[in-house]
Amino acid sequence: MWPTICLLLLAALVALAFFVIHKPQSFRRELDAQSEKLLALQRSFEQQSAERQAQQQALFNSMVEGVLLLDRNGQIQLVNHSLEEMFGVTADVRGQTILEAFRLPELAQLARQLPDKRLVRGYELELGSVEDRWVQINAAAVSDRDGAHHGAILVFHDLTRLKQLENTRQEFVANVSHELRTPLSLIKGFVETLLDGAKDDRELSTRFLQTIEKHTDRLTYLIEDLLTISHLESGRIVMNLKTVDLHKETSRVRDDLQSRAKEKDVKVENQVPPGMMVRADGERFQQVLFNLVENAIKYGKQAGHVIVGARAAPPKKIEVWVQDDGPGIPPESKDRVFERFYRVDRARSRETGGTGLGLAIVKHIVQAHGGEVGLKSELGKGITFSFTLMQDDSADS
Ligand code: ADP
Repeated sequence: MWPTICLLLLAALVALAFFVIHKPQSFRRELDAQSEKLLALQRSFEQQSAERQAQQQALFNSMVEGVLLLDRNGQIQLVNHSLEEMFGVTADVRGQTILEAFRLPELAQLARQLPDKRLVRGYELELGSVEDRWVQINAAAVSDRDGAHHGAILVFHDLTRLKQLENTRQEFVANVSHELRTPLSLIKGFVETLLDGAKDDRELSTRFLQTIEKHTDRLTYLIEDLLTISHLESGRIVMNLKTVDLHKETSRVRDDLQSRAKEKDVKVENQVPPGMMVRADGERFQQVLFNLVENAIKYGKQAGHVIVGARAAPPKKIEVWVQDDGPGIPPESKDRVFERFYRVDRARSRETGGTGLGLAIVKHIVQAHGGEVGLKSELGKGITFSFTLMQDDSADS
């Protein structure tokens, strides 16, 4: 009996041992397989979210507008390249508040209001840190369907260029109005005096009418110059490029201004080497040379000497210059004489019928030819204006 019982017990023990040893091993394998699957799933989620983040970052970085994402605590989550450029940000500002990152209380205030306001449109801000920069901000709070606040997105448009254009336009309109008003009020004054009885005095009325004529001429020149400038600035101007003989054109301009030069006893000398050719629009080139030689006569000294010269400026350009021995201009005016309506001596320019646009026209025409303008002057020792033009290739052969 006992041996049978012992045998049975032994069999049960073996069965138990088999269960204890074998079953957990398969159980563990199953567990391992499950956790392996979970890990793979987690890795794929992480990869997908990293890809999504990279895509989001690439999308934001491709935008011209600056983008700023804030989390629910008002800390910066993301800034794109355009925003970094706008604000001159070089360090990593993620995790910082707007005030810490940009030191702009006005912007920080705007972001603080977003959870309540939800949306801000067309808010204009001048960036104090970066000079003369303007941005327009559109901002929105980010929340889920239940209305819980999750952060905010702010989009910045750079308004600097628009503001500059607006200022230039306003300045231009103010200048033009001023330029038109002066001769018009003089004309009106003389007409009124004539109507008040001066017309009965033949000599006086002739003098007044001559003055009126002078001012109407001035208005005509001004309007012609304004039309030229607006045409040139429109960028739609087509240059009719052809081979221009520099020496010949200079002689033509000198002849056209002969009577003006004679009035002041000024000698205009053409030192341009014969046979020098440039690629230019003939009429526009004449206008450039005419304005420069006319100025040299006008502002140069009585019985002065004006020289027009040219030299090759390798590899492919020719430099033309107009030199006078007049009073020159002070150093602080050198960078400004090419601006519209800038005059060194206002009274002198008006008295000689100047519009203040001659050099601005010169600069535009030369630049439209792909050339550059320059000047050298020493007060009391005259001035030399120069410009470059493309050498005519056919002239080489
Ligand atoms: P304006 O019609 O008044 O002559 P410009 O644009 O031609 O206008 O010239 C701008 C200003 O530059 C002039 O008002 C004058 O003060 C100065 N300027 C130009 N050319 C000369 C020169 N050759 N010598 C001295 N000053 C000059």
